[in-house]
Amino acid sequence: MRSPIPDYLLEVLDACGADAGAVADYIPELAAADPDRFGICVATVDGAVYAAGDADVEFTIQSMSKPFTYALALADRGVDEMDERVGVEPSGEAFNEISLDPETGRPRNAMINAGALLTHSLVDGEDADARSQRVLAGFSRFAGRDLVVDEDASSSEFASAHRNLGMAHLLKASGVLECDPVDVVEGYTRQCSITVSCRDLAMMAATLANAGTHPLTHERLLSRPVVRQVMSVMMTCGMYDAAGDWMTDVGIPAKSGVSGGVIGALPGQVGIAVFSPRLDTHGSSVRGVRVFERLSGDMGMHLMDVAQEGRSALRGSYVSEGEDPVTVYEMQGDLRFAGAETVVRAIAAADHSTTRVALDLTRVYRLHDVGRRMLLECVRRLELDGRDVLVIDPERTLPPAGSADGGLHVVDSLDEFVAAGEAPGPATG
Ligand code: GLU
Repeated sequence: MRSPIPDYLLEVLDACGADAGAVADYIPELAAADPDRFGICVATVDGAVYAAGDADVEFTIQSMSKPFTYALALADRGVDEMDERVGVEPSGEAFNEISLDPETGRPRNAMINAGALLTHSLVDGEDADARSQRVLAGFSRFAGRDLVVDEDASSSEFASAHRNLGMAHLLKASGVLECDPVDVVEGYTRQCSITVSCRDLAMMAATLANAGTHPLTHERLLSRPVVRQVMSVMMTCGMYDAAGDWMTDVGIPAKSGVSGGVIGALPGQVGIAVFSPRLDTHGSSVRGVRVFERLSGDMGMHLMDVAQEGRSALRGSYVSEGEDPVTVYEMQGDLRFAGAETVVRAIAAADHSTTRVALDLTRVYRLHDVGRRMLLECVRRLELDGRDVLVIDPERTLPPAGSADGGLHVVDSLDEFVAAGEAPGPATG
């Protein structure tokens, strides 16, 4: 069977292709872009990639670089230090507004230029060159291939970067920027001039959606706390002065760039990139915004349209056959509070007819710490009630880190346990 998804993406391009807006002209190289280009790529967190239209056409990354440089600076400096240096409040202002928080002197967030300039200066590197190298190498790993800087675009933007230079000097004058302001604008302009395609951007976004692990190379590139911070700031500040509309209409953490790209990263699901150069008054691609509105509606991608995790966590329960039957609770999916609560509730309400009770985590692919604590407490209480508790957990998901089986009776499968004729021993820890 041919997958229907690429056909669906073509349909979306067709439906969202009406002309509107104008290509950015304040950077000479951008003014020369073909305004009719239109491409899309969707990459899932497990590495499937779907593309349609001009998905392989390259363009400069511009402001879509901001979340990724923020991620690198967060990885280098830590979340606490970055919070002291760059705010996380939406400014409700245009991308190039010259604004700093009057009380702290900090830029309001890392998605507007003032914050992005400071963020670029906070990436590890002893000088401007080393910082630029770090950014290019980092982006290349997020994309999964070696990216390059479009030197012509970079010098044409730098030659007219008066506003960004003004902002960098202001950051220096207010004492928040440590490096040379001209170096920082030059580095930031190079960062904005890294060339990418929708395919690259979708992979970069999918790395964020996949909590920092690249979906194809499987390299862990960012920690979960860093990704959470980046996605939160994208959600609240990524679309500048249109952030509120974006949240209600689309509900996907996103970032646009004046070259005409828009990226979105839906946690645990997909990275999306759309490219079409004509921009609206906020500086975002007109067709890009339309595509996101359409995808969010059609595919139920709004972040507030949450999965009913609790309802699907407990797959079922049964009593095994044989001489020494076991009551087995089968769990599945990503277990957080709501999921673990349904399991705990079912166990607490049950009137067990067997001495042996098993928690089967074979189909649990992620156990959040709150889920782990709740299930461990469940084991403890069942044992206090005189039950022998067995944990079926081939991936060793339940035992706390660094404690082997953590005093639990863990087996790979119920069959293996029954075949061994083992009797569960009392917990020791
Ligand atoms: N390099 C552009 C600038 O700083 C990026 C702006 C954008 O993409 O929103 O002006």
